[in-house]
Amino acid sequence: MSNINVFVEHYDGKLSPSCAELCTVARELGEVNAYVYGSKEQAQVFQETLAALGVQRIFCYEDYENREEDCTCDSLISHQAQFLQRIICVFSIGPVLLSATAEGNEIAGRLAVRMGSGVLTDVTGIDTEGIGEQSIFGDRIITHSAVKGLNPVYTLRPGAVSPRIAAVPGAAELCEVMFIPREHLGGHVVSFTPAPPTDRPELSQVKTVVAAGRGIGKEQHLHDLIEPLADSLGAAVGVTRDVVDLGWYPTQYQIGHTGVSISPDLYLAVGVSGANHHTSGIQSSGTIIAINNDEDAPIFQIADLGVIGDLFTIIPELTKEIQTRL
Ligand SMILES: Cc1cc2nc3c(=O)[nH]c(=O)nc-3n(C[C@H](O)[C@H](O)[C@H](O)COP(=O)(O)OP(=O)(O)OC[C@H]3O[C@@H](n4cnc5c(N)ncnc54)[C@H](O)[C@@H]3O)c2cc1C
Repeated sequence: MSNINVFVEHYDGKLSPSCAELCTVARELGEVNAYVYGSKEQAQVFQETLAALGVQRIFCYEDYENREEDCTCDSLISHQAQFLQRIICVFSIGPVLLSATAEGNEIAGRLAVRMGSGVLTDVTGIDTEGIGEQSIFGDRIITHSAVKGLNPVYTLRPGAVSPRIAAVPGAAELCEVMFIPREHLGGHVVSFTPAPPTDRPELSQVKTVVAAGRGIGKEQHLHDLIEPLADSLGAAVGVTRDVVDLGWYPTQYQIGHTGVSISPDLYLAVGVSGANHHTSGIQSSGTIIAINNDEDAPIFQIADLGVIGDLFTIIPELTKEIQTRL
């Protein structure tokens, strides 16, 4: 059985939700090895979860905490690509799977060049022959592509598959490799400032999303109407690109082709027209409900339930009704 190498994104002691999606796909293809860019101590925190996801081996750095470099080199993409390449070429020849995030795509590109492999980005699935499926041009065309080389590299679109734990847990054996000092690399990061956390739930971590489009009219209505509705449902707020471009809501909440892909159980679209660029990000959602005052809005073509009407009348009443039932 082939080795499948999964690069695990983690931040602040927490695994990225994409990790479970990557492992779900990888298990169908072979024996899963996970790569935690960090120390044995950091990897140990994830050991139980990775075992449940069917991971057989976890590669991490030995003596990582005692290195002389400051922690800002953690975010150096070239270092992470080098970490993967060194281990994969020595211990684990086989396909490599990363998440199609900005970071994952960049590591994938650099890794593919280093290993002389082909790379397929933003795949929505991989079959047992290694053929990657991609959904392009606003999801109007599905392509199937093969990648050559011993270590084909794929990045998986976040939200493209529903994560599942393994029927049989993996051994999740910790394997430490030697740390590569920064001096051996070309550049380094001199400072690293994560975007300030907000108190709103993250789009990828909830089962319900309330998405607002330009129909919401102005920024204040997002706070007065959409956020209270989302709170009453325990949901995250998502928005269309138009809402972001108008400066009404932060970029990290944009859903769609140039935003994030999500797969909640319930997606409620409010004043969203349903352009392909937006709906490409909600393809794997469960139930889709749309509220729009234009009965010809394209969103109704993909909605399971549609409400034709004025959102300014419907949303306050809906929020009140949900709150009385809690
Ligand atoms: C290269 C490229 C990439 C893109 N990437 C993305 C992306 O990632 N995500 C994304 O979302 N878009 C993206 N877009 C933009 C996309 O094509 C659409 O323009 C955008 O999604 C439309 O946003 P909207 O639905 O908020 O606005 P609109 O299309 O203007 O729709 C507003 C809707 O609100 C309804 N409405 C108005 N008033 C009310 C009311 N009182 N009650 C109820 N309904 C009301 C209207 O009937 C209308 O259907 C991209 C575009 C390009 C060119």
